[in-house]
Amino acid sequence: MTSRRQNIGFLPPDADAVDALTNVVGAKGIIASADAAAYLSEWRNRWTGESALIIAPKSLRETQAIVEICAERKIAVTPQGGNTGLVGGQIPFGPEILLTTKRMRQIREIEPLNNTMTVDAGVTLTEAQEAAASADRLFPLSIGSEGTCQIGGVISTNAGGVNVLRYGNTRDLVLGLEAVMPDGSIFNGLKRLRKDNTGYDLKHLLIGGEGTLGIVTGAVLKLFPVPSEKITVFAGLTDPTAAVKLLSHAQQATGGAATSYELIARECVDLVTAHIANTRDPLAAIHPWYVLMEFSAGMAGSLRDHVETALGSALEAGLITDATIGENASQCAMFWHLRHSISEAMNHAGTGIRLDVSVATSDIPAFLTKADATVRQIAGDSVRIVSFGHMGDGNVHYDIVPAKGDEKTALDPLRATIQEAIYDIIQSFGGSISAEHGVGLHKRDAIAHRKSATELAMMRAIKSALDPQGIMNPGKMLSSISNDEKKEL
Ligand code: FAD
Repeated sequence: MTSRRQNIGFLPPDADAVDALTNVVGAKGIIASADAAAYLSEWRNRWTGESALIIAPKSLRETQAIVEICAERKIAVTPQGGNTGLVGGQIPFGPEILLTTKRMRQIREIEPLNNTMTVDAGVTLTEAQEAAASADRLFPLSIGSEGTCQIGGVISTNAGGVNVLRYGNTRDLVLGLEAVMPDGSIFNGLKRLRKDNTGYDLKHLLIGGEGTLGIVTGAVLKLFPVPSEKITVFAGLTDPTAAVKLLSHAQQATGGAATSYELIARECVDLVTAHIANTRDPLAAIHPWYVLMEFSAGMAGSLRDHVETALGSALEAGLITDATIGENASQCAMFWHLRHSISEAMNHAGTGIRLDVSVATSDIPAFLTKADATVRQIAGDSVRIVSFGHMGDGNVHYDIVPAKGDEKTALDPLRATIQEAIYDIIQSFGGSISAEHGVGLHKRDAIAHRKSATELAMMRAIKSALDPQGIMNPGKMLSSISNDEKKEL
């Protein structure tokens, strides 16, 4: 179990500090203790923390004033957006104050001619998508938690999701950034530029920074034309090798029109159809593997022809064994509902070991073969392996749950062994042990022995240069305890 004891050296705010902080935001900006639980517990209850004060500024200036008080008095701060993070980064564990951006909700500006939108950090991802749509533009970032997660959170975790294949991760969708730095200064990087070659691109330190380098308060986001035509396909295949080849085939045949390419093992379909209401097998026969593909085109017209031709030749070449094209919005939504329900369905299959890893897309079949063999060697038939993910991005959610009928069996005794074995395999492929969920608390100790000494030294140098007191989200991402303390834990 990863230690939470990382806040050594910090004290909770004293009465004077609480008064000063309350003066900044007023009574409305302080979350009452009766409402605190929702901010202090991660949604699956995997991490439950504590905090002397939960504060909700509503502007850049209030955020700056809060951080100035904290910097002066060496009070630690954990930033929080929608609290949907999956690695515990948003949960404080003691003396830190919790700063939620929930009241920073302005869509500041939409510029269709520039294809940009400037928003506050506390705007939810759905609200950002809707604001873009209201100006006849697309903000393409899409993840399962989009109704709740906030722009500051998705930026700080460099969130991925289902459209990365075409549009990239959050990092690719942010043109400019505004943040309050750990000394209370303002980084005003709200640029709307697509080219700016004037030295280090500092916004990229905060994107994926998980709140350890500053508090994001606003951002300039990239917008795109809304596609006129979308085709959604659910296909059955024999194995992941066919899925890799099919992606390449489909991209060639459609001029790179694929926006999403999701791999789904049969186990996932079994779990979803067993546990989630209003779901059913999309294809008549059972197939060992499936892909959910979405294609889109700026101009309506020939996309469907191209996709049908691609599917026909894929069938002839044996890359797919069956496929169905979503004929209307509700059928397409049904395919996506199945995909988005996998995580929830897995909760019914017992407490599992969930790994979010990535390798080069073409290495996915070999990774899965090695990983499955290793898990079977360690756990025999006592587990079910559930693999799915954003295959077009090389991202596999490789999850292990107790075998069917043994849902109550705890996998905890196997957790560390399986996790480390899979991480070893990932490293042998030059992959990443965290593809899109980040590091937070959950993978902090794993990266400490899996990143190179040079990488860790560079990360620590950046952290100590920008946050010399270490007040920003202490204990997350980078371990700050000494080796002696580690031995003691
Ligand atoms: P929080 O959970 O509140 O915080 C996450 C991290 O960012 C913390 O370290 C926090 O300190 C920091 N932070 C938050 N706001 C700020 C800020 N303003 N300034 C500085 N630091 C800040 N993730 C994906 O990448 N792809 C997916 O497909 C995906 N699907 C998901 C599906 C579900 C059902 C759920 C529950 C989660 C999913 N996630 C996914 C994970 C999660 O939604 C993302 O990590 C999201 O980006 C977190 O946003 P948030 O606003 O909830 O941030």
